Amino acid sequence: MSNIIEYEVKNHVGVITLNNPPVNALSVSKGLLQGILDALKQGDHDPAVRVFLLIGAGRNFSGGADISEFGKPPVPGMANLRDVLAYMDTITKPIVAAIAGPTMGGGLELALGAHYRCAITGAQIGLPEVKLGILPGAGGTQRLPRLVGAARGVEMIVSGDPVSTEKAHELGIVDEIVTGDLRASAIAFATRVVRESRPIRRASALAVAVDGDVDAFFTQARERIAREHRGYPAPLECLACVEAATRRPFAEGVKFERERFEHLVGTTESKALRHAFFAERAANKVRDLPDDTPLREIRTAAVIGAGTMGGGIAMNFANAGIPVKVLEAAQDRLDKGFETIRRNYAATVAKGRLSQDAMDRRMGLLTGVLSYDDIGDADIVVEAVFEEMDVKKDVFRKIDAAAKPGAILATNTSTLDIDEIAAVTSRPADVIGLHFFSPANVMRLLEIVRGAKTANDVIATSMKLAKTIRKVGVLVGVCDGFVGNRMVHAYFREAGFLLEEGALPQQVDRVMEEFGFAMGPFRVSDLAGLDIGWAIRKRQAATRDPNERYSTIADRICEKGRFGQKTGAGYYRYETGSRKPIPDPEIETLIVEASKEAGIERREIGDQEILERCVYQLVNVGAELLEEGIAQRASDIDIVYLYGYGFPRYRGGPMFYADTVGLDKVLDAVRGYEARFGRFWKPAPLLERLGSEGGRFNG
Ligand code: NAD
Repeated sequence: MSNIIEYEVKNHVGVITLNNPPVNALSVSKGLLQGILDALKQGDHDPAVRVFLLIGAGRNFSGGADISEFGKPPVPGMANLRDVLAYMDTITKPIVAAIAGPTMGGGLELALGAHYRCAITGAQIGLPEVKLGILPGAGGTQRLPRLVGAARGVEMIVSGDPVSTEKAHELGIVDEIVTGDLRASAIAFATRVVRESRPIRRASALAVAVDGDVDAFFTQARERIAREHRGYPAPLECLACVEAATRRPFAEGVKFERERFEHLVGTTESKALRHAFFAERAANKVRDLPDDTPLREIRTAAVIGAGTMGGGIAMNFANAGIPVKVLEAAQDRLDKGFETIRRNYAATVAKGRLSQDAMDRRMGLLTGVLSYDDIGDADIVVEAVFEEMDVKKDVFRKIDAAAKPGAILATNTSTLDIDEIAAVTSRPADVIGLHFFSPANVMRLLEIVRGAKTANDVIATSMKLAKTIRKVGVLVGVCDGFVGNRMVHAYFREAGFLLEEGALPQQVDRVMEEFGFAMGPFRVSDLAGLDIGWAIRKRQAATRDPNERYSTIADRICEKGRFGQKTGAGYYRYETGSRKPIPDPEIETLIVEASKEAGIERREIGDQEILERCVYQLVNVGAELLEEGIAQRASDIDIVYLYGYGFPRYRGGPMFYADTVGLDKVLDAVRGYEARFGRFWKPAPLLERLGSEGGRFNG
């Protein structure tokens, strides 16, 4: 018997302990499941055993399947979870599972195969498979609804969100909440099962309860799920499995579940979601940082500037329980900034997502200051003032003079050269870019921009800080726009060219929304405001190469005072109080005029061309960033796009998407566009190489 399963008989209880740290993953190859099966068989024939207890060593029962075995072929001679569950359904003695800590996926499926479940407070109990584009493939979709009813079963399996011990008890997943020492209490509960001669209660033998009409329930659920999870096949398949549990005998339902599981594993969407899952973990790792890089302690923070970004950044610290001083140039701006923060928190309280107490505590961690003398004790200072080099330099000189030795000095600049900013300080090794995305208290992405002189421990501490404040940190290098904005710039530029050549904003937006973005480029522009980009372009006008293609459409729209939603008009028009974009004939006239002046004969542009030209711009610039070493790995670029730019998760990010299309095809298309449209389509050397070698960006 494998040593990651411990088996002992105690007071007629056959105690089977899963001991596979850190989370008791249900490993096939290590023999954990075979070990459980062997112990069950041994005990089933042992007259000294009257009941079994399945329990995890350490702090949880089981976190689920061993993710490293995902998609691997079966291991000969080793039982899998389904083998164990099938045996549990025929065993002659009752089995109790002791749930604790994260009990997820296969871990919960194993517990559902037991006949009774006790759980200790603090467990998280769920079937999160849908988040990886698959479904619980070991009877979870069949047993859970039999315990909790169709509606609750659908809710848990389709959302993938876990429930607490108490909720699981209320739902009927957990029979008994135990306290104190889990092992002792669980053994006592198992003993009681025998003493009270409770029957073997197999979930597989129950019927699924449905409130009301079965047909109506599933029809409505199908419509709702299709609407809410557009582009994701797994949620509907989960529903189909619950329906099978409701309408068919258990054995047939299990077969159906298996079939749908096998189908989903092979879908591009599931591969993309699994890619996203692993990519997020990979992003944490900095290739050239030694594992033993020390960390600096971050106990207090300061933010310079209480504007749009500064306020949101300060909230992140407060949300994580880190006291933060917010410095502004004048009292009235400070007041305005704090008012916005307060309003933001109050809105969350009003929605019931934050208690008034928690809001008060967080507000209490924020202190407004006007003098640099007050930020000297901060372990990290994040600058978020106007995007102007001279202003930033002035601020960094002041931070340098005020901050204590060892403090991390960060800038939230979107475009400026971090090395140039660092150079005005006496400690460029302490300077780093922390590029938050707007709204900074909501958006998960944090580009961590490493300067030429940034010290290793500053990088390592910033990566750790990202986690502390619940962001997804991605390390990038210095260049204009870093990873995300350099790519998005090319995307918006191409979208503008498409208008000039014959498309209208609503067509481009529709194509990108059908691809899976929540909003197409022009709706995004109207939401963000067109004036900032206009100001930047006016500043750059003098240095622009007159031979380079330039679309004037955005400028023309701004010249009409149309700055997007905030002025009631931009690429679209908006009725008062509404965010619904309405196509505007005035814009069509303006665009047609711009094409004419540019000497371009407008043509019908197909959806496929629109999609390719927008997405392949991202891909081609992404390939440049990889080759230049600005991004560490292709999957980091995908993470930037998934968390910062609303790229559809089920497509895995732009680089993964290109891999799924095939880089040879992408390269062909890019070469074709280069022949038609010139230098912005010059294939990145990395794309040329991988595209002609049959390679992929993501391994
Ligand atoms: P903002 O104009 O809303 O806020 C800037 C704040 O800085 C203002 O409140 C201003 O009073 C204050 N300020 C200016 N000079 C100061 C000084 N010398 N000392 C103290 N305070 C000073 O601008 P924002 O949108 O918050 O942008 C701030 C920074 O964040 C910029 O570098 C910008 O590029 C970057 N950024 C912005 C976004 C975005 O979407 N808005 C996204 C990422 C990064």
